[in-house]
Amino acid sequence: MKNRKLLMIPGPIEVDPSVLRAMGEVTTSHVAPNFIESFGNSIELMRKIWLAPNGQPFIVAGSGTLAMDMAVSNLLEPGDNALVISTGYFGERYKNILATYGANVTVLQAEIGEIVSLDKIEEELSSKNYKLVTITHVDTSTGVLTDPKSVADIAKKYNTLTVLDGVCATAGENTPQEAWGIDVVLTGSQKAIGVPPGLALLVVSEKAMTVWKNRKTLVQNYYGSFTNWLPIMEAYEERRPSYFGTPPVNLIRALEVSLNLINTEGIEHRVESHLIYAKAFRKAIQKIGLQLVPKREEIAANTMSAIFYPEGIDGNQFRKDISEYGVILAGGLHSEIKTQYFRVGHMGAINKSDIVATLSAIEFALAKQNYSFTLGESIGTFLENL
Ligand code: PMP
Repeated sequence: MKNRKLLMIPGPIEVDPSVLRAMGEVTTSHVAPNFIESFGNSIELMRKIWLAPNGQPFIVAGSGTLAMDMAVSNLLEPGDNALVISTGYFGERYKNILATYGANVTVLQAEIGEIVSLDKIEEELSSKNYKLVTITHVDTSTGVLTDPKSVADIAKKYNTLTVLDGVCATAGENTPQEAWGIDVVLTGSQKAIGVPPGLALLVVSEKAMTVWKNRKTLVQNYYGSFTNWLPIMEAYEERRPSYFGTPPVNLIRALEVSLNLINTEGIEHRVESHLIYAKAFRKAIQKIGLQLVPKREEIAANTMSAIFYPEGIDGNQFRKDISEYGVILAGGLHSEIKTQYFRVGHMGAINKSDIVATLSAIEFALAKQNYSFTLGESIGTFLENL
């Protein structure tokens, strides 16, 4: 029997075999011509996938948290006001990062499964001079999707920079960065970008780069400083060798392969597929009586779903049975409801049969605990709604 399990958590995700093969290629020098080409290509491809033709991409070894850290540490100066729009666990993380850099932080916290209203955001942004506002595009702890465009529209009125944590969204949720005027869109490699974990990825607007250039104080972050990384990005893009910290050559080659796959498919098509699969998946889950953590369809993420266990279901046993069936799902993350729900990632290079397999695993585990429903109904609903 095959013992490979289908990885359907909200990151890391299933990786395309061609991306994995690229990871396994011979490790070259970071100044070898073939690697310089891969790095330069990756930078150019990021602009296309982020839909930010004038943005400055950064590719740095680290996780998504480093991308969050780099975005704000390069833009903020001590004492600046920063607003966090929080829809769960990762809003809390941004608060902690901002506090580390001496920002004056205000948090607008949504109730679990909800977003913060635009009225509240406007009221806060108009109340004092905010340097930046952070938004979590999809909060992985709640599966709530925020509309970054509406927030960016308000932020522009008050000359506040927008930083979008797209770790669980970029390349899966619609985000035309330049058209929407978002100043930083950041992510990690292991989610909808479709690469194993290990890369912090950011695209920074021209406006935000100017804010960084004009800062009066030193960036309080040595490894993540644009001062160190901008010349490296510029050099690789011009196909010149350069060095600051050794780049993870295999990961960057894998990034080039994955970004090429997304670009060949077309980012618009990729995003649309996420929407179609996610909608059909939600219908399927609801058909068998399960409830989503997001309170409304319009604010449910298309890259992942957070789903309450039905009453009487033992969550640990449920996930154990699912794993034995051959699928890996994630448990809860939000501290207030941690034991009450589970999470399913449905992003990146997945296909219909991956979702059908996931639904069948969920049904199998529910049936094992004598949950009352018609076997096969979620799968039928998924197929009907495609
Ligand atoms: N933001 C969001 C929305 C995330 O989902 C995650 C990771 N789950 C992070 C930030 C942090 O990323 P990493 O774990 O790669 O540091």
